[in-house]
Amino acid sequence: MPPPLRVAVVGAGMAGLGAAWALSRHPERFHVEVFEERARIGGNAATVDMPQRDGTTLPFDMSVTAFIPSVYQNFSALLRHCDITAVPTRFSYAVHYQGGVHAHDFEGSLTRQYRNDLTAFRRMLRTLRAFSALSRRPSRLAAAADPFNYVSMRQALDRWGISTGFRHAILKPMFVNFVLATDIFSMPAAMFARYLDFFDVEKSTPMTTWQGGTREIYRRMTAGFADRLHLARPVTGLHRHARGATLRDADGRRAHFDAVVLACNANQALALLDRPTALERRLLGGVRYSSELHHDAVAHHDDSILPRDATDVLGSRSTFVRHYGPRPDNYEVTYVMHNQQPWARASDRPCLVTYNLERPVRPDTVIAREWFQHVVHDMRHMLLLMPLLPTLQGRGHVWYCGAHTAVNSQEHALISGLSAARQLGADYPFADDPQARTWFNYYGRMVQGRRFRPA
Ligand SMILES: Cc1cc2nc3c(=O)[nH]c(=O)nc-3n(C[C@H](O)[C@H](O)[C@H](O)COP(=O)(O)OP(=O)(O)OC[C@H]3O[C@@H](n4cnc5c(N)ncnc54)[C@H](O)[C@@H]3O)c2cc1C
Repeated sequence: MPPPLRVAVVGAGMAGLGAAWALSRHPERFHVEVFEERARIGGNAATVDMPQRDGTTLPFDMSVTAFIPSVYQNFSALLRHCDITAVPTRFSYAVHYQGGVHAHDFEGSLTRQYRNDLTAFRRMLRTLRAFSALSRRPSRLAAAADPFNYVSMRQALDRWGISTGFRHAILKPMFVNFVLATDIFSMPAAMFARYLDFFDVEKSTPMTTWQGGTREIYRRMTAGFADRLHLARPVTGLHRHARGATLRDADGRRAHFDAVVLACNANQALALLDRPTALERRLLGGVRYSSELHHDAVAHHDDSILPRDATDVLGSRSTFVRHYGPRPDNYEVTYVMHNQQPWARASDRPCLVTYNLERPVRPDTVIAREWFQHVVHDMRHMLLLMPLLPTLQGRGHVWYCGAHTAVNSQEHALISGLSAARQLGADYPFADDPQARTWFNYYGRMVQGRRFRPA
């Protein structure tokens, strides 16, 4: 029997751990090592612990908090595999914008002010949805036939005469609340409409979270290869040659591998490559990341930054969005985590995470700080870069996965990682789940291109 293929995975977010987990299920065929810059696994998904007065702690998530089971087929299968309980919850936001208020299931002053825009928006959505039905089936041809793939959301809003005030006071805060995405109006209108299959501007949304925080999912996924997770070990260089690739880390250590899975952001992947080709520079360097909203996320329990009004933010809302400053779209966003993750209601102090903290919170209430980056799904990314990224797969023994290769969600990051493992010869782990497999094959092809090996 030939010796196991030596595979390095760079990045321990959902994509990298998905790839490493699928490969590690075949120890006779693969020897996997994971290199991660941070001192923890999970990437964008961070779980923190709120200290309680009795000396215990209570876990809650800072960033990645929930999913929608009907579209997260592979992620749901992973939760079942890891024996993690899915917990129903409800997301509802309140926004304060230049003295006005809007909230789900609530008639606020902004809701009244923008009633005409709301009517026009509903009309626009009906049209978008009639076409987005084409994307609900796993057919690339049908999805490509939706004309709103080729129109940005900004153009669609202009076409339906929707005011900029409504966009900034109601629509963008709603997206900030659910997907924390910025630059949303440059997204294809078809993708925007798909999100709005689940989220509504006026009604709260049923969602699902996971018992105990994302940390537990990752801990169980990595149990079989915990000894090969190299944390706080950033990779700084990747030299490709005829027999594989050599990684360099920040301390100058080198290690040789037969194949490398780059599961970090596109800009980080490009920075590693020794002598990148012009195509690699164009494609990887072309993916945009936004940190406009996600620098300096602070987990704390200072509830003085939340309003005390009829919207009942502290008692019932998942998110509070507060506009500030002269720009129309600068927001301070507070996740009210004890409302998002039901077990955190047992906490004896509020579990809050504020992004873009603009006012001071009491320093003794701060328990953690993090920084996140979001891929921007603009028209260029969706129509040009994503279809071309598969041409890089497997070149020089390097495979790419992560949110930028598909869609920015745990489901698609997981699929991208599983698809990289599949290309290297691993089995698809959820073959007994027909729904999960169908969507794996659909998105796997999107990530890997024509040479994809379907499950
Ligand atoms: C604030 C926030 C909230 C979100 N909420 C949700 C949600 O509720 N539900 C949902 O489905 N999705 C959510 N998402 C999206 C989801 O988090 C991402 O789609 C997913 O985590 C992407 O995973 P990834 O593995 O591609 O990237 P990442 O999670 O970013 O992982 C990449 C990893 O690579 C590491 N790395 C980078 N460079 C190097 C290097 N040179 N050497 C070693 N390691 C390196 C990084 O440290 C990081 O750990 C959210 C995202 C953010 C930012």
